[in-house]
Amino acid sequence: SKERSGTYYHFFESDMSNRNLESIKLENALYKALDNDELVIYYQPQIDSKTNQLIGAEALLRWMHPTEGMISPVDFIPVAEETGLIIPIGKWVLKNACRQLKEWHAAGHTSLSISVNLSGRQFEEDNLVSMVRDIIKEYEITPENLHIELTENQLIRNTEVTIKKMKQLKKLGVKIAIDDFGTGYSSLGYLKNFPIDALKIDRSFVQDIEHDSDNAAITDTIITLAQNLKLNVIAEGVETQEQLDFLMSKDCYIMQGFFFSRPIEAKDLANKYLYSNSN
Ligand code: C2E
Ligand code: CA
Ligand code: CA
Ligand code: CA
Repeated sequence: SKERSGTYYHFFESDMSNRNLESIKLENALYKALDNDELVIYYQPQIDSKTNQLIGAEALLRWMHPTEGMISPVDFIPVAEETGLIIPIGKWVLKNACRQLKEWHAAGHTSLSISVNLSGRQFEEDNLVSMVRDIIKEYEITPENLHIELTENQLIRNTEVTIKKMKQLKKLGVKIAIDDFGTGYSSLGYLKNFPIDALKIDRSFVQDIEHDSDNAAITDTIITLAQNLKLNVIAEGVETQEQLDFLMSKDCYIMQGFFFSRPIEAKDLANKYLYSNSN
């Protein structure tokens, strides 16, 4: 009736911000994105700065929207997490990253590793560990070459279950890295309790280490902490020679950042690093 539609209209007008409307549209489009092959994984090289060799890559999701163009994961991962779409999407990323790693290994680059981001939502799934196990098996991945990245904040939630799952993952042989280290609500104590292999220094700390003495001090401290705990340490967001020099002077040698390469398509990574005549 007129009356009802009027009421609903006002309800709609006052209650639905443009932002909500946008996110509903995004959700519907994202739902189709997987089926329509609109999701693509870019790979950002990780370099051993002592040898300048490629040692691995981080899988970073991109959404090639048919009309909007490339959408950043920063803009759609939160929606995927809220709606639960991160579960099928995350599985797709893990599968395809492992398939890619298998291809690199088959081409003879058997020491390369792949880093995959897991969202907290995925970590809460009961079948997370069996999913990882099945994918490792399906693509015949050497488990040590699969590195799972979790942020600090994900670890804090549901600590008991989290530790249990991390231990199960470790049992499979995969490596676990703490992403964006130093930016979350962390207490250093948890480093003792969680079975962690590596810390990734957040790029907000690496940025400006040449000019900002606080960032330099924090970065230095994280590196020392990792060394004392016998953890690997990876620097993210390395953009300049000065940052590289600083990090190397502190004995941090695993580098990821625009100074070396942006995230790129697998075929570009292969052309640049794997099939060139220098290798
Ligand atoms: P992250 O895991 O911290 O990934 C690193 C981000 O830093 C990437 O942004 C990368 O492009 C960017 N980055 C690397 N080096 C530099 C640098 O030198 N300078 C600057 N300015 N940026 C650099 P990206 O690809 O936009 O990804 C953003 C975030 O989206 C990721 O942050 C991660 O939290 C999330 N994400 C991406 N792919 C996935 C995925 O498959 N699953 C989940 N759950 N999250 C993902
Ligand atoms: Ca990451
Ligand atoms: Ca990070
Ligand atoms: Ca980040």
